[in-house]
Amino acid sequence: MLAARMNKLTPYVPGEQPRDRSYLKLNTNENPYPPSPRIKAFLEGFDVDRLRLYSDPLSRDLRKRIAERYGVVEDRVFVSNGSDEALSFCFYAFFDSDRGPLLFPEFTYSFYPVYCDFYQIGYERVPLDESFGVDLEAFLERPSCGLIFANPNAPTGHCLPLNRIRSLLERYPEDHAVILDEAYIDFGGESAVDLVRNFPNLVIVQTFSKSMSLAGLRLGFVIAQEPLIKALFTVKDSFNSYPTDMLSQKIGEIAVADTGYYRSITRKIVETRERFSAGAEELGWRVLPSKANFVFASLPGVQGEAVYRRLKERGILVRYFDTEGIRDFVRITIGRPEEMERLLGEIKKAFQGNPPAGD
Ligand code: PMP
Repeated sequence: MLAARMNKLTPYVPGEQPRDRSYLKLNTNENPYPPSPRIKAFLEGFDVDRLRLYSDPLSRDLRKRIAERYGVVEDRVFVSNGSDEALSFCFYAFFDSDRGPLLFPEFTYSFYPVYCDFYQIGYERVPLDESFGVDLEAFLERPSCGLIFANPNAPTGHCLPLNRIRSLLERYPEDHAVILDEAYIDFGGESAVDLVRNFPNLVIVQTFSKSMSLAGLRLGFVIAQEPLIKALFTVKDSFNSYPTDMLSQKIGEIAVADTGYYRSITRKIVETRERFSAGAEELGWRVLPSKANFVFASLPGVQGEAVYRRLKERGILVRYFDTEGIRDFVRITIGRPEEMERLLGEIKKAFQGNPPAGD
């Protein structure tokens, strides 16, 4: 009954969304603040009759708004159903492992190897440096058909400065794509969007899910030079020509224009991240420096899974990874200040003077 290729797939597992009780959800990097208030006003006035019609298959108005915001032309913008879909199309369009494996960091977004298996692209994981940073020099030392990494990286939160990215691109073959997944860039990093002008192989992928607080809408976008964007349209139109719906396109337009609101909630998340990191360090935790809306943290002597279980019992969800090399850590999404205070309080109760022997 099933095609043989099904035996080769190991699907991505998203962070859990349990329904058994209500939890403080700090496990999927959702934004704790609501989306732009202009979106509520738009939805209240929306004429439902318009849903009879198909959405614009080219998402022209939304692409125009994104282009204005990032200082590029519309033909350099592609939009998708969440950035996961954009990433999937990029893997299909740009990587051909006849020319060498695709390289990505050993610890990074766990969907990358899943897409490789789906599209049968050979890959190699490149170890992080000693401070959990993405090792760009190591990318240059081995053959490859392309590169992909998240900046800031997930789940570490480590962010590379723009000059390091420029230096990588200057030394990497121009006919091999470099995908920069900037899902978390607005929380303190500097986007490489301006480098698209100079590098025909650079592909920037961003999302509305994190800093724009619209994870439920499923909207992402790509900025790259025209031939690459054209290739993504070819993939899209060979698969599903109307991927982003009318409401998403409209809401996306509103969100991307409301820079003032989003700047203010992003600032709050960054402040909360720094305060929470300092508080956890005072309690003896190791917290990796982060430029994302999450931190990667560990309590010496306690495995990530044990931390996860203890906090879940207390009604708080964080994420751990059952992966050699990062089993000591949990990834904690930054919530509102009062939520992070509650987490610190629960950490104190769960672990201070009460070592989790046997966990
Ligand atoms: N890239 C990274 C690094 C992520 O962590 C996520 C969130 N799971 C995504 C892309 C995809 O996000 P979305 O599909 O919601 O845009």
